[in-house]
Amino acid sequence: MLTDRLGDTHVDAGAQLFGSMYTRFLALVEEIGLQDRLVQVPGRDALWRGGRTHEVVYGSIASMISSGGLPLGTKLRLGSTYLPFLSRHSRALDLHSPEDAAAGGLDAESIADWGVREIDTAFVAALVYPQLGAYYGASPGETSAGFYHILARDGMDVKLYGIRGGVGEVPARLAERIEAAGGEVRTGLPVTSVRLTAEGAVVASEAGEKAFDAVVAAVPAPVVLDIVEGLPILLRDWLGAVRYRPTLSLALLLDRPVGPRFFGLSFPEGQTNVVAAVAVQENKGVDLVPSGRGLLLVLPTPEAVPSLIDLDSRQVHDRMLPEVIRALPRVQQHVVRARVYRWPIGTPIMYPGYLGHLGAFRASNLEGSLPLVLAGDYLYGPSAEGAVSAALDAVRRLETRLGQ
Ligand SMILES: Cc1cc2nc3c(=O)[nH]c(=O)nc-3n(C[C@H](O)[C@H](O)[C@H](O)COP(=O)(O)OP(=O)(O)OC[C@H]3O[C@@H](n4cnc5c(N)ncnc54)[C@H](O)[C@@H]3O)c2cc1C
Repeated sequence: MLTDRLGDTHVDAGAQLFGSMYTRFLALVEEIGLQDRLVQVPGRDALWRGGRTHEVVYGSIASMISSGGLPLGTKLRLGSTYLPFLSRHSRALDLHSPEDAAAGGLDAESIADWGVREIDTAFVAALVYPQLGAYYGASPGETSAGFYHILARDGMDVKLYGIRGGVGEVPARLAERIEAAGGEVRTGLPVTSVRLTAEGAVVASEAGEKAFDAVVAAVPAPVVLDIVEGLPILLRDWLGAVRYRPTLSLALLLDRPVGPRFFGLSFPEGQTNVVAAVAVQENKGVDLVPSGRGLLLVLPTPEAVPSLIDLDSRQVHDRMLPEVIRALPRVQQHVVRARVYRWPIGTPIMYPGYLGHLGAFRASNLEGSLPLVLAGDYLYGPSAEGAVSAALDAVRRLETRLGQ
């Protein structure tokens, strides 16, 4: 979650929106006194099809069914097959207990395989692909059907929220609250090692070593493996099976608004090479962009990321811009600044079988009595809600272990 400044605008460079089903994240926003910054956004989106944009309301299957963004047969099957399927399985499709989908037999195959067999190829290419590619950095072929069904079920009836002034307000306010309560927050200081001992944990960084009773490792799984010494082999094996995909985003500052009223424009599979979605920041409704300016955040397709991630920023811009202009011609000649943001480890991939892997973590107490608990979105799913849920669980386990 990062809000940066580009010229006189604010850029939400990663996380954009939060759903009404994010009960734990929304409770945290309230607890840290940011509810007045929480803004319900219109959810106006668009799909690219047949060389033009088709407006839809995000998460509204009714709006998908009435829009021109999907072929007629697919829309009919959404109504006659998919909605009843999601209702039938609703008890196994819980964002706060994704492992239930594995127990319900929905984690053994990819959403690409399930979707082509049960609905059709357009469902996978035009609906599943843009959503997963743009917002979860993954393709339908590498994503568990159960994980997608959870997103689809929550999306049937959802309100969306942004943070006025940018999502970066959330970690900033959180840090303020921790300091106000007597805690210390250090940023920009990578931990180089964590040594687990009989007494607790010794945390090392450039600033030296410091001993603690216990640590919460709220970093991606590969970082845990890299920096924590003394992890049991079963826990190392479990962490080793968490897969990631690096990702990036490209911000384009324009000297005028882009025009259309929608926020997110997504591209079906095969319609573009490198661009999965464009998020029109001035249409988010959270005061990031002064009037008279435009600001786009461009997100890559999962397939393009390996060829983009090591390019310099100018080359990333040069590869992505033509595809943006094809869909939004008014952008041409109006880009005044650009910036690339990179997540070299990236987003955890919810591959087929991964929800069962989460179930194994919950069932087997792999941390034992270590003075270390794991947190991070990979313990639920790549969203702010996943990260907060994992943090709340970590605190509960830590309190039990420290006997409080
Ligand atoms: C492009 C993009 C768009 C997204 N859009 C949305 C969205 O719209 N809505 C949504 O809910 N979610 C979205 N997400 C997902 C969401 O941002 C993440 O799931 C969430 O931020 C993960 O939180 P986390 O605490 O698990 O990990 P992170 O946010 O990755 O936090 C881990 C932290 O650990 C730090 N760190 C790493 N190594 C070390 C070290 N050695 N020492 C000290 N610190 C270290 C990192 O710098 C980082 O600050 C998006 C993600 C991306 C990349």
